[in-house]
Amino acid sequence: MKIIVCDKTESEAIEKMRSAGLDVDVRDTITPEELPDVLPGYDGMVVRSRTKVRQALLEKCPNLKLIVRGGVGLDTIDVEFARSKGIAVMNTPLASTDSVAELTIGLMFALARSIVQATTSMKAEKWDKKSFEGDEIGGKTLGVIGLGNIGKGVAARAKALGMTVVAYDPYAKNTGDTKVVSNLDELIKVADYITLHMPKTSETAGMIGAAQFDMMKNGVRIVNCGRGGIVDEVALSAALTSGKVAGAALDVFAEEPPTDWSLVKLPNVICSPHIGASTKEGQGRVGMEVADIVINFSKNQ
Ligand code: NAD
Repeated sequence: MKIIVCDKTESEAIEKMRSAGLDVDVRDTITPEELPDVLPGYDGMVVRSRTKVRQALLEKCPNLKLIVRGGVGLDTIDVEFARSKGIAVMNTPLASTDSVAELTIGLMFALARSIVQATTSMKAEKWDKKSFEGDEIGGKTLGVIGLGNIGKGVAARAKALGMTVVAYDPYAKNTGDTKVVSNLDELIKVADYITLHMPKTSETAGMIGAAQFDMMKNGVRIVNCGRGGIVDEVALSAALTSGKVAGAALDVFAEEPPTDWSLVKLPNVICSPHIGASTKEGQGRVGMEVADIVINFSKNQ
């Protein structure tokens, strides 16, 4: 099988595929303009989040049999169209779970203790102890919206830190001993921290908006390592400015990179450029899982 790797992928994974006899071309800087001319020559493609695989591109590739997305979401691929054409679409759902769960917990601590703001203050040569009285997270209630792999990972870690965990996920399976509420409002009203771990769909887009912020506890803190656009950013800005929301930690944004930086610049916002899965361990697992998927697929051809 001829495979094109369109986004940065660990060299060990490339070697593993080649050692299994696959013809692998690494074109990890290929542009959307170049792809329609190049892709028809391949049986399979490997992408991460950079390369978008839309219907118009797929229509030009009648021989394509496999798309592997290294990572969790498949929102960068027109999955239904691809599958309707007999193209297998696969991802690596578990490889990033621990990395994203750990970042989420790290951001919660950073919010509780203003770690980023305190660092910024000291770099400006200030010794401002009074501004940085924080909160302990032990004993607080964490609302987990989306109790899938990452949500469960966050819930387990939060419980180990002495938090009470309440979750909302109408489709969750195997929720274990986590208390799951059937109504989002129930979670929103009791949570000191709210963390989001669901995909962006027509149902979840804008799910946390002005009406939800109004219902929240005063001084609630929000973490979004899920997807941008699940939280209405205009409503979030207003809630942060009024003090209803004490702080927000954002790894994902409605537009990436943002063109309007006003939310990011609010003093009670801390943020990172969609790095939830970016750890050496996570990336290594993604690469190896991608290689295994491609190799197993090729064996059945
Ligand atoms: P998952 O599929 O295991 O879990 C997603 C959960 O969301 C499921 O349990 C599903 O039932 C739930 N869900 C769907 N619709 C919902 C709704 N309307 N209300 C509440 N819950 C709903 O996926 P995962 O591995 O846990 O990843 C969760 C999300 O994290 C992904 O969808 C992706 O958007 C995001 N993610 C972000 C990064 C990052 O770098 N920040 C990395 C990986 C994944």
